[in-house]
Amino acid sequence: MIETRTFQAEVQELLGLVIHSLYKHEEIFLRELVSNASDACDKLRFEALTDPALGVKEDELAITIEVDRTTRTLTVSDNGIGMSRDELAENLGTIARSGTKAFLRELKDKGGTASPALIGQFGVGFYSSFIVADRVVVESRRAGASEAWRWTSEGKGEFTIEAGARATRGTSVTLHLRPHGADEEHPQDFTSAFTLRGIVKKYSDFVAFPIRMEVERWEPKEGGKPGEGATVRAVETLNSMRPLWTRAKDEITADEHAEFYRHLAHDFEAPLETIHFKAEGTLEYTALLYVPARRPMDLFSSESSKSSLQLYVKRVLILGDCHDLLPPWLRFAKGVVDAPDLPLNVARDVLQQNAQVRQIQKRLTKRVCESLAQMLEKDRARYAGFWTNFGMLIKEGIYSGGDEDQRLSKLALFPTTHGAEATTLVEYVARMKAGQEAIWYLAGDEKASLEGSPHLEDFAKRGEEVLFFVDPVDEWLLERFREFDGKPLRAIDREGAHVESTSEKEAREALEREHRATLSAIERELANHVKAVRFSTRLTESPAALVSDENAIGPNMERLMRAANQTVEPQKRVLELNPDHALFQKLARLCKEHGETSPEFQDHVALLHGQALLAEGSSLPEPGRFARLLAKLLA
Ligand code: ADP
Repeated sequence: MIETRTFQAEVQELLGLVIHSLYKHEEIFLRELVSNASDACDKLRFEALTDPALGVKEDELAITIEVDRTTRTLTVSDNGIGMSRDELAENLGTIARSGTKAFLRELKDKGGTASPALIGQFGVGFYSSFIVADRVVVESRRAGASEAWRWTSEGKGEFTIEAGARATRGTSVTLHLRPHGADEEHPQDFTSAFTLRGIVKKYSDFVAFPIRMEVERWEPKEGGKPGEGATVRAVETLNSMRPLWTRAKDEITADEHAEFYRHLAHDFEAPLETIHFKAEGTLEYTALLYVPARRPMDLFSSESSKSSLQLYVKRVLILGDCHDLLPPWLRFAKGVVDAPDLPLNVARDVLQQNAQVRQIQKRLTKRVCESLAQMLEKDRARYAGFWTNFGMLIKEGIYSGGDEDQRLSKLALFPTTHGAEATTLVEYVARMKAGQEAIWYLAGDEKASLEGSPHLEDFAKRGEEVLFFVDPVDEWLLERFREFDGKPLRAIDREGAHVESTSEKEAREALEREHRATLSAIERELANHVKAVRFSTRLTESPAALVSDENAIGPNMERLMRAANQTVEPQKRVLELNPDHALFQKLARLCKEHGETSPEFQDHVALLHGQALLAEGSSLPEPGRFARLLAKLLA
């Protein structure tokens, strides 16, 4: 009986997108099918470890490519794990990948088109068959099952499932190729052995199982004259089957790394960085890790909050997504660890407690950090790209306590008053002036708005550099690193960030006595918002600034906590006024001439306070009133 089913809505959407976006890269369908076949062999080999009844012989696992030029069909078969009827419907009719919905929604917002890089990064898998085929037939028989099933689809919303004829374990995917040469965009003939061999070499050479194809070969007659001979058909193994990580480091080309990485990470681009080493000694293993060049879109989804590397034991894939080889904050890294000393049948939950695995994790973490430190030192532009994509995770590492020896804080980049380029803390410290008390920072939304902060005036005068903490997590990070290289990190909008000399203090206090009446009147008018009003010795240009207590929650943190729906008491701060500014002089006159209850005086006090809030990037308590007063003043 033939059963007809419809694809999950997302499959249909993705199919359209895949065909539309990847038609210029159509050859990747073969990589995807070979990759699936290889996974199926891996899975069977792993299952056979605990189930000898499956009767799997190590060297029988293989992938076969067959071509029929007359019917224009191409078949990729494997004798791996196979799929049951339910698995066929589930795996080839729905998309299990996390973030699919979000991905499609995002694309819709962009007008429904995806760059090959974006869609490639999403991982197109089996569905890429429909770029080159107008009909796909999958015949599969699950290992250990007695019946086979056939899945057929034209990629137009429906597929059918019926009993199949496959006599042995495994899966065959048959593509009915679209007419060849229909347009110039599709120059490749996928029924040509030469073409197929080239594609396999390019993308799948390292696959651990033989990829075989029957080819025609000209064989000269033994002992015959030149030109004498015949065309014979022979089975050829197209790939070298040498897993990349087992090869000598300097023998592997950048292209080979790129292809292997793409296969691992479902990425379209080459990796940003490759880390390959063999650990020797008491615990032996090989690690081949890659740092991606771009941020995968699900980096911060709850499903992918763990690191994931492939774990091999003597070249047998044990876990496709081992979470224990790297800490969660290094989850951007993709790659393989082959640890021959681990037991072959090691279970996922046992791994966590395994002392060897912990040791590997420690070492890998160190190596990744070293390699990033090296990139930072040798290739700043490339590192800046890394930081934009994955800096958040390094900060997550600092926050989660992974920052021994401050090796992670050394990797952090911060915008600074020193120039347009972000700086490291090491560079900052090297530029510190003699006698500079602290590593100064100012926290807020973005560099551009912080650059206008009145608090910077004093530091510009002193010639001391200030870092901008513009990432919401930066201030939380301070819980973990209160100091760097023995120097405390301190906010500049705090009481203690500005130290007055004795003479400055005396002069200020004398001036305050002189203007006591005005200062007190302002204080009374702003009693709900500020805790004191006094003169400032830190301001040169601005009329006013708000200063927090040394250990109080700063205005940025207050904003962030509100945004995260946390209750925070409004923090009352000190309003410091610039006695030389015309605005203060005007206030003093209004107070004297009209009295502190006059609208003239009160309106100007509200404007003064409002502009101090705006200057630091805070919002106004009464924006409507502020706007009206400003309009009145301007008119
Ligand atoms: P992915 O391989 O990224 O998971 P695919 O769309 O390529 O996505 O495949 C979906 C699922 O179908 C696979 O995860 C696998 O379970 C199953 N599958 C595909 N090809 C095969 C095959 N040759 N043998 C067994 N299972 C397969």
